[in-house]
Amino acid sequence: MLTPRPRPAGAQHFGADDQLNPNLLIPGVTVRRYTEPAGGIRLDVAVPCCGRLARLRRGLDHAQALIGCPFCGLAYDVTVIDELDGGHAALFKVREEEVTLARRRHKSGPRDRP
Ligand SMILES: [Zn+2]
Repeated sequence: MLTPRPRPAGAQHFGADDQLNPNLLIPGVTVRRYTEPAGGIRLDVAVPCCGRLARLRRGLDHAQALIGCPFCGLAYDVTVIDELDGGHAALFKVREEEVTLARRRHKSGPRDRP
């Protein structure tokens, strides 16, 4: 019988029911999460970092989306997976980039003025 080898850093995977420490969400880590129907072709899914909900469109099988959490500064590549039982899962992969939101307008207006 083989002993499981330690996984290489940055290539960890967490299943849908795994608890995870947000400190482990480094680029390359993948996390599977269940989605909830949100009407029509929309699905809600909780981001792995803080559990806030992001809304996805189900669309095609294996549809790709980009989700950013502005609260945690994390961005994910997300693949929607049809589980063929009426449900959908979302596979999150942590990206290298940080997320920053454009929040407010410049005081002098949208463009630089003399
Ligand atoms: Zn978050």
